[in-house]
Amino acid sequence: MHTQLGVLCGSAREASESRALTKMSNETINLLEKRKRQVHAGGEFAMEAEKQSLAGSVSQRSCSFCGSRVVLYPIADALHLVHGPIGCASYTWDIRGSLSSGPELHRLSFSTDMQERDVVYGGEKKLYHALIELIDEYKPKAAFVYATCIIGVIGDDVKAVCKKVQAEKGIPVIAVDSEGFKGSKKEGYKAACDALFKIVGTDGVKKTLPNSINILGDFNLAGELWIIKDYYERMGVQVVCTVSGDGRVDDIRKAHRARLNIVQCSGSVSNLARMLEHEYGTPMIRASYFGIEDMSKALYDVADFFDDDAMHAAAQRVIQEEVAALMPQLAPYRKDLKGKKAAVYTGGAFKVFSLVRSLRTLGMDVVMAGSQTGTVEDYKLLSELCDPGTVIVDDTNPLELAKFIKEKDVDLFIGGVKERPIAYKLGVGFCDHNHERKEALAGFIGMLNFAKEVHASVMSPVWQFAPRRART
Ligand code: SF4
Repeated sequence: MHTQLGVLCGSAREASESRALTKMSNETINLLEKRKRQVHAGGEFAMEAEKQSLAGSVSQRSCSFCGSRVVLYPIADALHLVHGPIGCASYTWDIRGSLSSGPELHRLSFSTDMQERDVVYGGEKKLYHALIELIDEYKPKAAFVYATCIIGVIGDDVKAVCKKVQAEKGIPVIAVDSEGFKGSKKEGYKAACDALFKIVGTDGVKKTLPNSINILGDFNLAGELWIIKDYYERMGVQVVCTVSGDGRVDDIRKAHRARLNIVQCSGSVSNLARMLEHEYGTPMIRASYFGIEDMSKALYDVADFFDDDAMHAAAQRVIQEEVAALMPQLAPYRKDLKGKKAAVYTGGAFKVFSLVRSLRTLGMDVVMAGSQTGTVEDYKLLSELCDPGTVIVDDTNPLELAKFIKEKDVDLFIGGVKERPIAYKLGVGFCDHNHERKEALAGFIGMLNFAKEVHASVMSPVWQFAPRRART
């Protein structure tokens, strides 16, 4: 039965959420028995994570196909063809805020639009003709073909079709093993990394480039990558390749020539970083570009890696200039937000750490924090970073989120597009920190944008009219 699935397609999830939240009103919400070990609300830490979503719990996780699209979509000069029914393609069509400084082919999402007849007789011919037509029309540097659920079921040989078209057209045509039923978006991330690694090293040059890095796991939402790149370039660091924000196929071809990989959003691209380390010996460090502390650390860590005094001094200069400009501007927001309560729920766990620190910078208390794909180790560290009593959740669902938002009486919920209606239905301010956002929140300037957005939402007079607040 559809509603028994742990991971739902978008429309089924929305209907289910809506019914549950509408019914909920003021009644007590209990955790499902089998979910209890994935929630930590104080006492000795004994959480479980990295499990299949529980049937019936309506996980916020999305499917493998969606995970692959998230990672590969921002490659702006590639063709992205979804082999499947049109519904899968619409799920991700141009809803992400990844910007490009040049071509914008990524914003056109193509689908083979599999119909009943294709499902019965197979879709390989349709896929072949779609690829030929699209490559002739748009002249992409590479093509990614995403397999969806139905393709896995009927067994189309996507790889064989891609191989044939690649030979005919002379560009990489790569099958992405992203059938939705293979798991959650985490498995999709892996499929995307496997696809990317097929392009790495194909420029035919081996020599590494001096003081060079790859920025992995930033998707250039609202132009954030350009902010980060500017800091590194002011330090004298050369950025070889960005995966995948403002991404270009020719840059990915030479990703193996960078001396260091900086990995943000570790869940999505850590597999690629590991393959680069294994195959080419390129070390990696993790970074986050959100908040003053983590942004500064991301710059200092690179200077430390290259062990270069001039670079270290340049990093210090960048940080001092940016922080000196930022702090006076933050002051009025901090004054109003002091003591307000926040709940945070994101896709990957690494971002949660930065958000907890950023909210502290604004004087706010984090009373609930969690992610869709964190590990036990992530949550242990998170419970140590947060104040005692903060609820830590793994792979939660709308009802649990509503329970904790109500119990903790939060003023602000930070999440993504699936969490926004939960906040608004409960009469709580919301800040979008996911791929759909149109505001740059990374870097020092991003911290100021974050403060403005949080302030506007939390301090809005509209919440006094929300039923939950009006009753108290
Ligand atoms: S790939 Fe499967 S689970 Fe994902 S959107 Fe398409 S049908 Fe739904």
